Amino acid sequence: MQFSDFGLDKRLMSMIEHLGFEAPTEIQHKAIPVAMLGHDLIASSKTGSGKTLAFILPAMQRLMRNRPLSKRDPRVLILMPTRELAKQVFTQLRLFTTNSQFKAVLILGGENFNDQVKTLEKDPHFIVATPGRLADHLSQGHFYLNGLELLILDEADRMLDLGFEKQLTQINNAADHRKRQTLMFSATLDHAQVNDFALALLKKPKRIAVGSAHSEHKDITKRFYLCDNLDHKQALLEHFLANEKYQQMIIFTATRSDTERLATLLTAQGLSAVALSGELNQSQRNQIMDGFSKGQQKILVTTDLASRGLDLVNVSHVINFDMPKHTEEFVHRIGRTGRAGSKGDAISLVGPKDWISFKNVEGFLQQSLEFDQVEGLKASFKGLKPKKPKKAKSAKVTTNKKTSDKKAKSNKPKNKTFHIAKDVGDMPVMRRKATLAPEQIENNDIDEIE
Ligand code: AMP
Repeated sequence: MQFSDFGLDKRLMSMIEHLGFEAPTEIQHKAIPVAMLGHDLIASSKTGSGKTLAFILPAMQRLMRNRPLSKRDPRVLILMPTRELAKQVFTQLRLFTTNSQFKAVLILGGENFNDQVKTLEKDPHFIVATPGRLADHLSQGHFYLNGLELLILDEADRMLDLGFEKQLTQINNAADHRKRQTLMFSATLDHAQVNDFALALLKKPKRIAVGSAHSEHKDITKRFYLCDNLDHKQALLEHFLANEKYQQMIIFTATRSDTERLATLLTAQGLSAVALSGELNQSQRNQIMDGFSKGQQKILVTTDLASRGLDLVNVSHVINFDMPKHTEEFVHRIGRTGRAGSKGDAISLVGPKDWISFKNVEGFLQQSLEFDQVEGLKASFKGLKPKKPKKAKSAKVTTNKKTSDKKAKSNKPKNKTFHIAKDVGDMPVMRRKATLAPEQIENNDIDEIE
């Protein structure tokens, strides 16, 4: 299939040619025709799969070909979970709108509210936004959504995980009319809240699954190293920095303070590193991301803030200094490398505190992951093993003579064992003993392997 098969406007075709894209990616191939027919859509797609164009092209086509429902209201609204992602989508959108009659604006949290009010007064055709700030403007009547034709929710799972359901519902309700089309993208479709939300929002949606968050990214080599403690992790990191041939690298840490600490440490060693954390204000975040994407620094140290969607083509290495708490973030983090067909390396450091996350990732990827070793930096830590499930205490049958017959009766049946089970009212439930599945293993249920 070629882009020319979609029947896109020739202005869009010439931009695609200018960008040098030869053929549609799988998500574009599947989603563009469905969206162009006006259907609602729920789609899953892998990171870096080209899904931004899968919604920008039908949106542009719709605006070029259809009369607006309103002269003042925005026609297309694109919502994204983070400011960085929204900026990235906005950049791609602007390629198509710059030489057209359509105005596109970006409305993000953390930026000047009054400037945004003025921007909204200019009656843009496209709004790209994060949901919290946009909902604030909507509540205050700075714009209306009665004429909205197309609502696009990107990374819907993440928006819901971040607690934006209320704002998304408010936005949806403000634009709930018969002619509205909705396109919903999510890293995974196995997400109960996404499915419930899709049921509430979408009208007879078409469902498209392209790859899955579980599936392997062939261009990324994954390596795992056992570590004893923080010092050991740092020593391994220094080894990789000295021995790996990297263009740019992203190091993910578990906490904001580690982000700062590591970036300072690396800078003190003469490396070109910068920290990105949620504590910074928006303009500082923008500055850091702009600088890094232009190659001004070689290393970005960050938390999961930068794990999703960011399109940084020169990132050859991702290092999980700490494993992510949420399993699916692993796939998003490593997806920052190996973009658009280039190769990438993802190195993960697994210490005792990372063990559970590591096992969860292993389960999530549905494969058994092996450990590599660096000569001279081998770990004595070998992993944790699940504790044997504790035997539930048997309900003792009282033999105290003083106990009345009545009380003794209440302990019947004798010699039967009651185990803690799901609460089904007041009754204890008799169950067979269950062994714990690996995914049920909790932090406090582990013993170290000798
Ligand atoms: P996305 O998943 O939308 O973030 O896109 C990932 C990268 O793929 C971006 O750099 C896009 O510019 C690029 N891209 C999008 N569509 C195509 C295509 N059909 N062929 C080649 N690259 C593409």
